[in-house]
Amino acid sequence: MAGFFDTHIEYLKGVGPQKAALINKELGIFTFRELIQHYPFRYEDRTRFYQISEINPDLPYVQIKGKIRSIETSGEGRKKRLVARFTDNSGETELVWFKGIQWVIKKLKTGVNYIIVGKATAFNGVINIVHPEIEVLTEQNAAGGYFQPVYHTTEKLKSRYLDSKGISKIQKELVKRALPNLRETLPPSIGEKYSLMPKQKAIINIHFPSNTETLQKAKFRLKFEELFYIQLRLLKLKLSRSEKFKGQFLNKTELLTTFYQEHLPFELTNAQKNVIKEIYYDLRSGKQMNRLLQGDVGSGKTMVAFICMLLAVDSKAQAALMAPTEILADQHYEGLKEYANQLGIKIGKLTGSTRTKERKILHTQLESGELDILVGTHALLEDKVQFKNLGLCIIDEQHRFGVAQRAKLWSKNAYVYPHVLVMTATPIPRTLAMTLYGDLDVSVIDELPAGRKPIKTIHRYDANRLQVFGFIREQIQKGRQVYIVYPLIEGSEKLDYKDLMDGYESVQRAFSEYQISIVHGKMKAQDKDFEMQRFVKGETQIMVATTVIEVGVNVPNASVMVIENTERFGLAQLHQLRGRVGRGAEQSYCILMSGYKLSKEGKTRIETMVRTNNGFEIADTDLQLRGPGDLNGTLQSGVPELSIADLSQDGKILQIARESAREILEKDPNLEEP
Ligand code: ADP
Ligand code: MG
Repeated sequence: MAGFFDTHIEYLKGVGPQKAALINKELGIFTFRELIQHYPFRYEDRTRFYQISEINPDLPYVQIKGKIRSIETSGEGRKKRLVARFTDNSGETELVWFKGIQWVIKKLKTGVNYIIVGKATAFNGVINIVHPEIEVLTEQNAAGGYFQPVYHTTEKLKSRYLDSKGISKIQKELVKRALPNLRETLPPSIGEKYSLMPKQKAIINIHFPSNTETLQKAKFRLKFEELFYIQLRLLKLKLSRSEKFKGQFLNKTELLTTFYQEHLPFELTNAQKNVIKEIYYDLRSGKQMNRLLQGDVGSGKTMVAFICMLLAVDSKAQAALMAPTEILADQHYEGLKEYANQLGIKIGKLTGSTRTKERKILHTQLESGELDILVGTHALLEDKVQFKNLGLCIIDEQHRFGVAQRAKLWSKNAYVYPHVLVMTATPIPRTLAMTLYGDLDVSVIDELPAGRKPIKTIHRYDANRLQVFGFIREQIQKGRQVYIVYPLIEGSEKLDYKDLMDGYESVQRAFSEYQISIVHGKMKAQDKDFEMQRFVKGETQIMVATTVIEVGVNVPNASVMVIENTERFGLAQLHQLRGRVGRGAEQSYCILMSGYKLSKEGKTRIETMVRTNNGFEIADTDLQLRGPGDLNGTLQSGVPELSIADLSQDGKILQIARESAREILEKDPNLEEP
């Protein structure tokens, strides 16, 4: 049913078909609903007037009152400028225009009282305001006393008078018409509990705030509402799933006990133990598990995965472990095969490069139930891969997998959905995790195995390469191994490969007495594997690579990670790369190389890496730097588009919104109450 808010904006007074078409095109706004949710992103405080003697470049937009004393143009052609000297009784400033001079000059008059709004800048020691807004002082505007909302707009829209002021005007019309149609969308109990501003009042104040306090309350209310409904949907999904979907009852622990007593190579950390307990509880709840396991790089997720797979196998179910890359699948397989053999469990590996003949054998063994554990890549999602009884599915490094793929795994068991455990080392900030994975239960490994020394991270300029090479040599002489990683960015592959090969050559020249591996995406899987294995076995001392080694690879003897062109990597990626070292007992180092020229953001990323090893702190900084929309693309799709809440700022609001949604569902699981 189309309601008031579905009305097309061309039917709003002051808009009409032509402007509507332009707004559609420029802002993607079609309906009243979309327009009213086009909230200002900033507000200019016009509640006070500054004295000219007070203004300086550190202030945001300022508003002043005064008169023009003189008007003159200077320069020629593109350097032409118009300067008006503007005074009040406290001092003088310059108003400057570079564009539209002919038009502006006709408007300006000396001796008339004006209101000026703009940003003060300093030029040659003189304070000036470039391209200010200028308005004749009248009785109405003399008092100041309002906030000017600033809306996202475009040059094209501005040329059709749809600047912030123009948009504000049509919003005024829309809000007026919308009010009778705006119903309260939150239950009174929540409104009271958090003293939320009523919906109507919030809409008025977000577009036309009367003071800072009401503006804050309006923002809070609308953000809360937006996040509340997302959380309500996610939690409802989770609830109905846990009611509807049964899971296999996996409760035997004999295999586990044998493994603990006879083969486990180290003492589990308490965090690992707790997580295993949580998962064990899920596996015998009779309901399908959907759990996210977050653990920083090196926290020992693989062992947790293996132990959980034992629980499945013990109850005559099969288990699958899916990794994002072939290298990683190989490594998991090689590592786990040893334990599986000790326990008499049959484990297989399926990747893109598995030969057809082997594949056929695997398929048969999976269908007959002969194979207990399958390790692989995306290849195990193929329809041809069918299990006799898949009971548990583990996805390593989730950020490389989409939501759709997660769902596809479910269909691998026709009778009862397999339990799903998603493991990620990408430390997703809590706020983002709650939105992305709000439908999953979350476990966290927040402890590294004992005896690890924190990695030392250092920033070095390219000019100091010789020194860095000297340090690498020292480390190799002590028996350590070294990674040197180059960026490989989509769109600039050609140059990047050249960088990589040039780098490889110079490393070969500098370290001619040592063996050097190289691994990159253009190599055949077989060759990659061969080189990787040489490094893992310690036959080569240096591994030159692109980011293919980023995820999961485990070589405890490697103690130095050199990252070239650091500024070209994202923070999450840098943290992942650094996590490749620091896995053994030795002191490890991460050396971030860069040129002298760094962007502000690049600098912040490097400083953050040098300052902290804490994945969650890094993830938060990353979120601040990039904003959640951007993380969206790299992590996985699924971050809902938000019209007012900001996941990088509104973590607290999100938390209480989620809590409220949970309370509501507890009392009213089917959402039947008004
Ligand atoms: P990640 O969580 O990054 O996947 P891994 O599972 O690769 O980490 O584990 C990193 C290293 O730590 C491996 O060499 C693993 O054998 C080792 N490890 C895991 N758990 C423990 C533990 N409790 N005590 C000591 N070493 C451990
Ligand atoms: Mg791992």
